[in-house]
Amino acid sequence: MKVDISGQTRIVGIFGDPIAHTRSPAMQNAAFQACKLSYVYVPYLVRSKNLSRAVQGIRALNLAGINVTVPHKEHIVRYLDSLSDGAQLCGAVNTIVNRDGHLFGDNTDGRGFLQSLQEYELPPQQGEVILIGAGGSARAVLVSLLRAGYGPITIVNRTFANAKSLVKSYHNLSKTEVRASPLDALQNLSLLERASLIINGTSVGLDGEDFFPLAYEATPRSCLFYDLLYRSGPTSFLCGAKAARRAILDGREMLLHQGALAFTLWTGMPAPLQTMKQALRRALQ
Ligand code: NDP
Repeated sequence: MKVDISGQTRIVGIFGDPIAHTRSPAMQNAAFQACKLSYVYVPYLVRSKNLSRAVQGIRALNLAGINVTVPHKEHIVRYLDSLSDGAQLCGAVNTIVNRDGHLFGDNTDGRGFLQSLQEYELPPQQGEVILIGAGGSARAVLVSLLRAGYGPITIVNRTFANAKSLVKSYHNLSKTEVRASPLDALQNLSLLERASLIINGTSVGLDGEDFFPLAYEATPRSCLFYDLLYRSGPTSFLCGAKAARRAILDGREMLLHQGALAFTLWTGMPAPLQTMKQALRRALQ
């Protein structure tokens, strides 16, 4: 990678712990080069105890912006100057824009997820959505789905109380029905028969472990299976869907689109999606 660094170069990056696995530098630096922008994207290993000082560093070093990943998306909110309404609703930030020392926090995870659905041409009101998981990424996805009118939505989670708490927080966001269920709802054939979209928003599958038993064949032929996880090979959740000849998307799509939205927030320019997609594919090989 050839980068021409000059006195005009702007620095962006990502705060996380761990950070060595991140593919965002490959994707964003390819985008900056394709658009001939003098920007550099750098990974920063930021320990939780150093988070507030790292945020001060954004101002002190005049970084143009920062992405935020695990485990800081929620904790970082308290150190920022203003938030988008989406970030406020989720209580989490994955993109910071430095506007002359004023740090604005946004959340492009949910919107990135939504853009990938729209690219796939899955419109709202096509059927029911089953969202498995009730953690931070499930929350961002839920807010975007509700705002876009997808649903009814069933949130299925190992810890039932966490699914119920998501429903309590967001059931007023739209007229769409949202309900909570324990994991055994994945055996409920009548629920599966009505599904148009099933999302894995848990971390199950990250290390190659098996997904929960799920009657894939009970879903309509047009049902889309979307795993927010991404790894070099398909996850067990998506392998099951593929074997049942159902359509699949993985977390690379969400990663791509959340990154494209962050690129535009920092530069004001449309993101070169194809370049970013190719860079991501190469980085994941
Ligand atoms: P959280 O830690 O906030 O939530 C984890 C979720 O997984 C919870 O619902 C938890 O259930 C569930 N879970 C964890 N282990 C198990 C298990 N053994 N059995 C059943 N359920 C389990 O994580 P995030 O929401 O931040 O991330 C979830 C996944 O999404 C991650 O793997 C991450 O890589 C991916 N992700 C992808 C992104 C992308 O751009 N593609 C962006 C962000 C995340 P419980 O409530 O019971 O603990």
